[in-house]
Amino acid sequence: MPDKTCNYIVGVDLGGTNVRAAVTDKNAIILGEGHRPSLADEGSEATISQIIEAIHEAIDASGVEPGSICGIGMGVPGRHNSAEGIVLWSPNFKDLGTGVQILAPIRDEFGIPTYMGNDVNVAALGEFRFGAGIGISSMVMMTLGTGIGGAIILDGKLWAGVNEGGGEIGHQIINPNGMQCECGNFGDLEGEARRDSIVERALRKIYQGRRTVLAYKVEPKYYDLTPAMIAQAAAEGDQLSLEVMEETGYYIGIGVANAINFLNPEMVVIGGGIAQAGAVLWDPIMRTVRANAIERSLEVCRVIPAALGDNAGIMGGVVLVLQAIEG
Ligand SMILES: [Zn+2]
Repeated sequence: MPDKTCNYIVGVDLGGTNVRAAVTDKNAIILGEGHRPSLADEGSEATISQIIEAIHEAIDASGVEPGSICGIGMGVPGRHNSAEGIVLWSPNFKDLGTGVQILAPIRDEFGIPTYMGNDVNVAALGEFRFGAGIGISSMVMMTLGTGIGGAIILDGKLWAGVNEGGGEIGHQIINPNGMQCECGNFGDLEGEARRDSIVERALRKIYQGRRTVLAYKVEPKYYDLTPAMIAQAAAEGDQLSLEVMEETGYYIGIGVANAINFLNPEMVVIGGGIAQAGAVLWDPIMRTVRANAIERSLEVCRVIPAALGDNAGIMGGVVLVLQAIEG
């Protein structure tokens, strides 16, 4: 249990490429930051020592006395047993995700209470308390990127599931004959709308001989295509790209409508890099939501972009510690 008289908190966001740490006050105002490459392919020891380095850097940059820090809260990708401080499975961190102790070495290094949670769950807590969700009590979060993450907050509490598998909005099946997801399912939301599936959708149309400005941008290395390039071409009126964004937005919209119909939340927050595609993606999402969500539930639900951007994970780490302080 953290000391309630302490004033500062460390939030940590472990991503597949980088680990970011920040020292904040209890209002999540950032006072100092540290960054390190997360060295996902170099094994768990390398990654854990990078986390420790990033935290030291953040504490040094903040000028805060280590003794006045209440605790450390971390968002870590994968399926967890948070109480034991281990990750059971993580696609980006193959070694770390074999049940290696991650909390213990960090707690030992700094001598303060340390907590962890799934990265999307933690980011959702950040958005809920300090971002898009300020003032509400229920929220569904969806993150669009390499995969499609999700989290559920009901009555102000994260629903992590019985053994931390809850909120996986990306693995809801929306098109049983559709594209395959990394999890093995066909036509779940992640299979239809994750980063690589958006690119794949464009490539299939290109290989059918369709004309598109994308062909000039990346030919002959079509796998250099990115969702951002497709969104940009769509915004400029490229028909093929517009269709790709329309189809992608349709599936995301179905996923959002399902969440609204199933949970009746006050808000659905959509984050992640691909959520920044603009109207070419948001218009079909919202059109599909309006067509498929139950009207009385939609009336009370706002579907909006995430507010904290890359800081959601750090803020959520801060929330983990605050929740421990508040009991
Ligand atoms: Zn899946």
